[in-house]
Amino acid sequence: MRLDEDYLRELELWPMFALKGAVQPAAEVVARPAPAMRAAPAVAETTAKAVTPNRLAPSAAATRPPIVTAKADIPAVPADPERAAKIATLDWAGLAGETAACQACGLCKQRQRAVLGVGAIDAPWLFVGEGPGADEDAQGEPFVGQAGKLLDVMLAAAGLARGREVYIANVVKCRPPGNRTPSIEEAQACAPFLDRQIDLIQPKLIVALGKTAVTRLTDSDASMASLRGRLHHYRGIPVIATYHPAYLLRNLPEKLKAWEDLLLARRTMAELAQPN
Ligand code: URA
Repeated sequence: MRLDEDYLRELELWPMFALKGAVQPAAEVVARPAPAMRAAPAVAETTAKAVTPNRLAPSAAATRPPIVTAKADIPAVPADPERAAKIATLDWAGLAGETAACQACGLCKQRQRAVLGVGAIDAPWLFVGEGPGADEDAQGEPFVGQAGKLLDVMLAAAGLARGREVYIANVVKCRPPGNRTPSIEEAQACAPFLDRQIDLIQPKLIVALGKTAVTRLTDSDASMASLRGRLHHYRGIPVIATYHPAYLLRNLPEKLKAWEDLLLARRTMAELAQPN
């Protein structure tokens, strides 16, 4: 798949990137072939895949100076370890049922639907956003509103597509009222669900969209500016931080940086796909 000029035009990144020489011929970056992908939400998946450690050669992105910052105020031990341990054993059907019935935090009170995630359940790419908005709450699928449209354009520009080699999830599964940022406690209450999704999918790479996801997956409260452009790890999986599509809709110049982050993600995936 080539990086398409039309997509870059839609992102308002053309011809800026061409002038900067940032657009390169697309390498084959998908670590696992698309035809093998299975769609989710799904029927019961009874066996979790064996955990295979991700390999990644040191790269420029990994060798930036260390981030000097306070850790995010996320407790290392879940609020309810018994509940977390139970969720850690669930298959996809169990996860869907458990999120739909969840009352672990106040977000359940106003939700229409819990939004677990969408995409291939063995996807090499996992994109994690913040939480459902009004459209997602109504439809039960992440990123279907305006921000979702931009995310789809970004995915397409990177040669990816929703429902193919990508799984999309959120830090919290229920809509925060008024689309406010979820609290640390709400993110923590929902953490076992995202953790179980990650363990079941075993993605090669996670892209964290926006501060809430970046904080949750890097355990750092540092600024987006200092966290993007480098590799982090969560549960042994490389994580790349970038701006949330909703933020990009309001801050057009930052699309350039988001595009650079996607290119870093593609390079990282290409490195991961190389044999030892
Ligand atoms: N914003 C998010 O972070 N997630 C969604 O699903 C929709 C909007």
